[in-house]
Amino acid sequence: MNIILLGPPGAGKGTQARRLVEERNMVQLSTGDMLRAARTSGTEMGRRVAEVMDRGELVTDEIVIGLIREQLLAGGEHGGFIFDGFPRTLAQADALGELLGEIGATLHHVIELQVNDDVLVERILGRAADSVAAGGQARADDNADSLRTRLLAYYKQTSPLVGYYYAKGNLKTVDGLASMDDVAQSIADAIG
Ligand code: ADP
Repeated sequence: MNIILLGPPGAGKGTQARRLVEERNMVQLSTGDMLRAARTSGTEMGRRVAEVMDRGELVTDEIVIGLIREQLLAGGEHGGFIFDGFPRTLAQADALGELLGEIGATLHHVIELQVNDDVLVERILGRAADSVAAGGQARADDNADSLRTRLLAYYKQTSPLVGYYYAKGNLKTVDGLASMDDVAQSIADAIG
C-alpha cells in the first residue's frame, strides 16, 4: 500500500509517518529529510538547496523528483511507501503518478491532515524554542520569516493537490488537531 501524507508544515506528517513505519513496515520517503541530508554533502547542489530551504521556499521539482525516483527504483521488500512532504506541486504529483506506473505500483490513499493555521505557527515556533531549551539547535527554517514563506508556499503551490486528489478519488481528510494517538487511529481507519 502506497500513501501520501498531505498537509502544511507542522501538521504532524513526520510523526504519523514514523508510526506507520513501525506498525506496518512501510518505508517513509521524506523529501525534507533527503534535502537536509543533501545540504550537508558539501556539494554546490547542497549549498543551493540550503539557501532555498532556509528561506522557506520550494526546491526545484527536478531535484526532488530525482531524489524520489532513486528511492522508488531502489527495490526491497516492505509494506509500501509513505510519501511525506512530497508531492508539493502539481508537477510533482504528475511525476509521482508516472514513476509509480513505471514500477508497476499505484497510489492507494492520500491523507490530508487538516489543521488550523494559528496552531501550526505555535507548534513550529514552539518546536524551535524546545530544541534550543534542550541545548540543541533549532532547524534553520523554523523561524517566523521562513515559516511565513513556507505557509505561503503551501497555500500557493501545494494546497491545489487537495482538489487534484479529490478528483482522482484518493483523498481522505483527517483532523490533525486531535491527539497523536487519535490522529493515528483516524489514519488507520482511513487506510484500513
Ligand atoms: P515542513 O513540512 O515541516 O516545512 P519538510 O521537512 O517537509 O518541512 O521540508 C523542509 C523544506 O524542504 C521545505 O520548506 C522546502 O524548502 C524543502 N522541500 C521538502 N520537500 C520538498 C518538495 N517536495 N518540493 C520542494 N521543496 C521541498
